[in-house]
Amino acid sequence: MQKQSGWKLKSKEEIKEIFQFAEEYKDFLDNAKTEREAAAYIARCLKVYGFQPNYTRKKIYAVNRGKEVMAYVAGKESPAEGLNIIVAHIDAPRLDLKQNPLYEDVDLALLRTHYYGGIKKYQWLAMPLALHGVVVRGDGDIVEIVIGEEESDPVFMIDDLLPHLSRKTQDEKKLSDAIEGEKLTVIFGSMPLMGADKEAVKEQILKILADKYGIVEDDFISAELEIVPAFKARDVGLDRSMVGAYGQDDRASAFTLLQAIYDLEDPQRPCLALFTDKEEIGSEGNTGIKSAFLHLFLQDVFQGQGIDVNEALLRKILFKSKALSADVNGALNPMFQDVHEQQNACYLGRGICISKFTGHMGKVGASDANAEYVGEIRRLFTKDKIIWQTGELGKIDEGGGGTVAKYLALYGMDILDCGTPLLTMHSPYELSSKLDIFETYRAFNSFFKS
Ligand code: MN
Ligand code: MN
Repeated sequence: MQKQSGWKLKSKEEIKEIFQFAEEYKDFLDNAKTEREAAAYIARCLKVYGFQPNYTRKKIYAVNRGKEVMAYVAGKESPAEGLNIIVAHIDAPRLDLKQNPLYEDVDLALLRTHYYGGIKKYQWLAMPLALHGVVVRGDGDIVEIVIGEEESDPVFMIDDLLPHLSRKTQDEKKLSDAIEGEKLTVIFGSMPLMGADKEAVKEQILKILADKYGIVEDDFISAELEIVPAFKARDVGLDRSMVGAYGQDDRASAFTLLQAIYDLEDPQRPCLALFTDKEEIGSEGNTGIKSAFLHLFLQDVFQGQGIDVNEALLRKILFKSKALSADVNGALNPMFQDVHEQQNACYLGRGICISKFTGHMGKVGASDANAEYVGEIRRLFTKDKIIWQTGELGKIDEGGGGTVAKYLALYGMDILDCGTPLLTMHSPYELSSKLDIFETYRAFNSFFKS
C-alpha cells in the first residue's frame, strides 16, 4: 500500500508511457461526453480488436439500446468455475432538457432543464455548454445532435446574477438554496424572426431547428438531449501530471476497463467487462445494472459457447464469480481536509484506491467486501506491483455515497470497490492524476489475467 506519491516509484520511461496513455484517455473523454457516445466509442474499439456480436466467438460484445455495453472474453477454464468481472458506469451528472423545454421571455429563447445525478447547481452557471443527444422525430427517424464541441460551433450558457444585485437573492442564502433547479435554464438564442409578430425569437430558433435538423417543437417530447460542459480535456499543472475534464466519474474506469479487456488474449478465467448506464440515478431503468440485460447476455454467451445453460447453472456461475466495482473516489481535498479522515482517505497520485465499503451513516447501503476477498485482491496487486492505496469516502457521518457493487453482490459473487481518486468530483471539471489513471488500467489488467 502506497503512503507517498506513486510518481517516486516510476522511471523516466514509465512516466513517458503514463503520459502517452493519458493522451488516449483525453481523446476518449472528448468523444464520449454522454452514455450513448461512450457506448458507441467502446463498441467501435471492441470491434477493431476482434470482438463481435456473435456468441459463438471467443471475444463477444453486445450493446443494449445504445447506452450499455457488455464484452466477454472466453478463458482457458470453463465458466462453470465463475468469471472475472469488472463493472464501470458510463453516465455522468449533467442537465437534461425537459420534454417541453423551449420558451421565450425577455426577448431570449430559453431551454428548461432537469438535472441528472448529484450536482452542485451553482457550478453550472456562466460557462460554455454543449448540447448532445438524440431526437426521435414524429416519423420515427432519429436525429443525432452535437452542438458546441467544434471551435466553429456556437455554445450555450446559463445566466448568473451579477454580484451588484445578488445580495438578497443569492449571497445571504445557503449555498444549496442559492440556485434552484428550475433556474438552470439555458440561453439558446436572442434574434427575432423577421415578420413574426408573436414569440419571434422562439420562432427563429424553431426555423433553424427545422432547416438544419428537420425537427419541430413537438419532437422534443421524444428526445434525450443533454447539456454538458463544452470544454475539452486538458493537462493540468505546470508539470502536466493531471487531467482536467468533464465526466471522469466514471469514464476514468470505463476507459481503463476498455483498455484492459480489448487486447486480452486467452486469459485463465473467462472475463466480462460491463459498461453500464444510470448509475448516477440509482442504476434504475432498462440500461442500468439492475435490469435483466446481464442475465440475457450471459445466457446467450454460454449457449453460443456450447454450454447447456439453465437458470440454476447461471446462478452458480454468478455466485462463483469474482468482481471489481470500478468507480472513482473523492481524493483528499487540500482546502477542505476536515471532511476526510486522513489516515483512511485516498490521495491524488498514490495509485488506484480500494474501498472495502462505501455507504453512509454506519455503512448503510454498502456492499462491504469480505476480508478474505480484500486479501486476495491485495495479494494480486502486490504481486503485480500495482501502485494502490485504500480510501474511505470522507469522515464518518460527513456524507457518503454508493456504487453498483451491492447490485452485483446480490448474485452472491465476491465484489470489491476500487477506482481512480478524483478532486472536484461530480463537478463540471473533474481532476485526476495521470499516474492513478494508468495504475487503474494496470490493476484491471492484472485482475483479468488472474
Ligand atoms: Mn461513479
Ligand atoms: Mn458519481
